[in-house]
Amino acid sequence: MPAGLAEDLISIRRDLHQHPELGLDNPRTQQKILDALDGLGLEITLGRDLTSVVAVLRGGAGSGRAVLLRGDMDALPVAQDLDVDYASREPGLMHACGHDLHVAGLIGAARLLAARRDELAGEVIFMFQPGEEGPGGARIMLEEGLLDVAGVPVVAAYALHVGSAGERLGTWYGRSGPLMAAADEAVIRVIGAGGHGSQPHLAKDPVPVACEIVLAMQLMITRQFNAMEPMVLTVGKIVGGTKDNIIPDDATLELTLRTFDAEQRLAAQHAVRRLAEGIAAAHGLSAEVTWLMGYPVTVNDATEYAFLRATAEELFGADRYVDMPHPEAGAEDFSFVAEQVPSAYVFLSACAADDPLTAADNHSPRAHFDDSVVPDGAQLLAELALRRLANPR
Ligand SMILES: [Zn+2]
Repeated sequence: MPAGLAEDLISIRRDLHQHPELGLDNPRTQQKILDALDGLGLEITLGRDLTSVVAVLRGGAGSGRAVLLRGDMDALPVAQDLDVDYASREPGLMHACGHDLHVAGLIGAARLLAARRDELAGEVIFMFQPGEEGPGGARIMLEEGLLDVAGVPVVAAYALHVGSAGERLGTWYGRSGPLMAAADEAVIRVIGAGGHGSQPHLAKDPVPVACEIVLAMQLMITRQFNAMEPMVLTVGKIVGGTKDNIIPDDATLELTLRTFDAEQRLAAQHAVRRLAEGIAAAHGLSAEVTWLMGYPVTVNDATEYAFLRATAEELFGADRYVDMPHPEAGAEDFSFVAEQVPSAYVFLSACAADDPLTAADNHSPRAHFDDSVVPDGAQLLAELALRRLANPR
């Protein structure tokens, strides 16, 4: 890595860390990215409905193909509880998921690749994305033409995510196939008819029906779905009624569903609807089920993931690479890109604590990310682009 670049990336990261921004509107972060990319000879496109930056680097040995590298930009509504001299200056806001490291790393990859432009056998698209934590900036960027911006097919996409706990500092970890869950929400409204609590036979009580639906959904998971294909369903909210002796007109359930396969995801949604409507009907009531589709399953393409893993092992040593036995039940909107382009996504530990198992995890007010890994992230992304464009497969 060129002299001074690592220090520069860390200082960019610490500046971003002091000025976290939320959701789709990250104007200061956007300006910081534009300043950091200035002079590299990139073609820049700014988002219309979000403060994204898409930058295209045209290689000297054009091949008619492009590779996409992504870094997300947004922070979280978390009040930082960490004593560092670059702590957040925005009350109630914090880069608690490490996206500041992602931005700095992607800037580093752009600088490394711009310096080796003559060797690049194609184009590189740098995707700086707001709104990963919601409502999903990646989907908007795709709608705004992300994959068409270089004018040539995008053959692969890569992204990384830092973690503040779980693995030792500098460890890469990932897996082929499903890596993170699809996360969907449902609202189930059980519609009955209210009445006096002393005369339930004259009413249609939605409360026991709602309870039956809650339990039946857990039974559904073990009886209707393969035990080797996990899913998580949690009813996090249940609301009905006003007073002990009044039967309410309706009762409402809100749930999150986490699945790891596109077919299983739709099958589970269908099964929840059938259970809720069927159980309500069996008692002479009705149910309305409304699904809010969240981020899809994040799937690592087997070939691209094997390539990423081999590249990371060669650059950083096999002792720094760990295979994850299971996917994580979190969700990630890079999945919208991975649905359209063969992709690989990897985690990188930025754990600042001595014991990763007791360290504060991402999204904690005490999450502490060690930014000494930022240059490694930059180097991996740059190497993936160089090598993938050189290898047409
Ligand atoms: Zn994140």
